[in-house]
Amino acid sequence: MTMPATRGKPLQLFDSMTRMLREFVPVRAGKAGIYSCGPTVYNYAHLGNLRAYLFTDTLRRVLLFKGYAVTQVMNITDVGHLTSDADAGEDKMEKAAAQQHRSVWDIARHYTDAFLADMAALNILPPDHQPKATDHIQGMIDFNRKLEAAGHTYLLPDGLYFDTSTVPDYGRLGRLDIEGQKAGARVADTHGKRNPTDFCLWRKSPADSRRLMEWDSPWGTGAPGWHLECSEMSLRFLGAPFDIHTGGIDHRQVHHCNEVAQNMGFLGNGDAGVRYWLHNEFLVLGDDKMSKSKGGFLRLQTVLDQGIHPLVYRYFCLQASYRKPLEFGWEGLKGAGAGLKRIHLRVAELAARAGADTATRLRDAVANPLTADVAALSTPLADGARRYLADLDAALSDDLNTPRALAALNTLLADDALAATDALRLAALFELVLGIRLLAMTADDLNLRAKDAALTDDRISALIEERNLARKNRDFARADAIRDELDAGGVLIKDGPQGTTWEWKPA
Ligand SMILES: [Zn+2]
Repeated sequence: MTMPATRGKPLQLFDSMTRMLREFVPVRAGKAGIYSCGPTVYNYAHLGNLRAYLFTDTLRRVLLFKGYAVTQVMNITDVGHLTSDADAGEDKMEKAAAQQHRSVWDIARHYTDAFLADMAALNILPPDHQPKATDHIQGMIDFNRKLEAAGHTYLLPDGLYFDTSTVPDYGRLGRLDIEGQKAGARVADTHGKRNPTDFCLWRKSPADSRRLMEWDSPWGTGAPGWHLECSEMSLRFLGAPFDIHTGGIDHRQVHHCNEVAQNMGFLGNGDAGVRYWLHNEFLVLGDDKMSKSKGGFLRLQTVLDQGIHPLVYRYFCLQASYRKPLEFGWEGLKGAGAGLKRIHLRVAELAARAGADTATRLRDAVANPLTADVAALSTPLADGARRYLADLDAALSDDLNTPRALAALNTLLADDALAATDALRLAALFELVLGIRLLAMTADDLNLRAKDAALTDDRISALIEERNLARKNRDFARADAIRDELDAGGVLIKDGPQGTTWEWKPA
């Protein structure tokens, strides 16, 4: 989408720093830079994580739709992320490696590949840059040196720390009650920290043991802090200031407050280098946020195991504003599947009426949202059709209001006054931001069960092996889902001292 910027209405985005809707004004005319906190690759992404990446993908598609040249950076955290946001616990990568008796690099490769496969299945556009933390250790050391030279750090026996009292208004992004924290008991567990909110920039390896991943630094052999990598890589790839930083709402309290502090210390001009902070709300199961740390969790494969297409999950997420908690449930997901199927059936009907040539041309025109020509697709449209384009733009400009965009799509698909070609052309324009393959897929493609061949011996063995691994990792939700899938396919499994055996259930 390479047209002059700011097509349509001004884009309003909810900025967490000011807690207000603010009109998007790019740092550089016609361009938009986005940094999105990426996955820590110690496990599969759960559905809640994936909601965050669907949100950033929608943001990116909307900016493209409105004519900006977008650069998106998403990091891969393969070192430094501790099991607790405070400086406590183990490195998540090292813990997973020890549990699974594999090397840290093996773990990182396996779960990075799984993450990229999930992204592709959800039709999430690949980020322009996807840097790994371990590829940027030297940059992080240099970053710390600059912080140290400017007087923002101090050394404790276990590493280098950031003194949060050296930057103005620390914690504003998270609306942290710093005075309250100082008075509180948390100071007691800070092993020499000057302020309870101070955080680690470089963790020294203990003298009596080696970490699986460690590097030499002026502050001893060790590993970088998690917050540091996002500051370093966002400013490296996007420059300062850049436009938009995204992440899950859980990052607003600690991770992003620390990024702000680091950036201010590094840039030294009283600026945090980020113009808009956008946070997506959680996917919730009952009252609980979905978290990998609590044992069992749902991932995209769990959805596929139920015969539900991954794009149904995308559609499910689009039905809610990214700023509202979204309650996950199988009924809701199945309802979304039915809604998406109706849309696909209607689009197929329009394609048949508009003719194969038109349908193919439009499908190809939106196959790549990065290069699609929105202006060419928008002309000519009859007046009755233009209204829907305006509706789409108004919905998106209202802080990415995807539920409203979906409502407009459903209304236009039901509008019999529209010529089939115009309706199909509009569907193509909606597709650019929704990413539900309106022209590139059929309702039949959504039905995974129909395409799923009966269970073969190889498939059964693979599932049993995966279930055993899941049980070993205490991922009981996954283990149960696999048993249910086998059961539904007529396979009975038995766990015995010799391992797991299986047999066909009597017919
Ligand atoms: Zn981050």
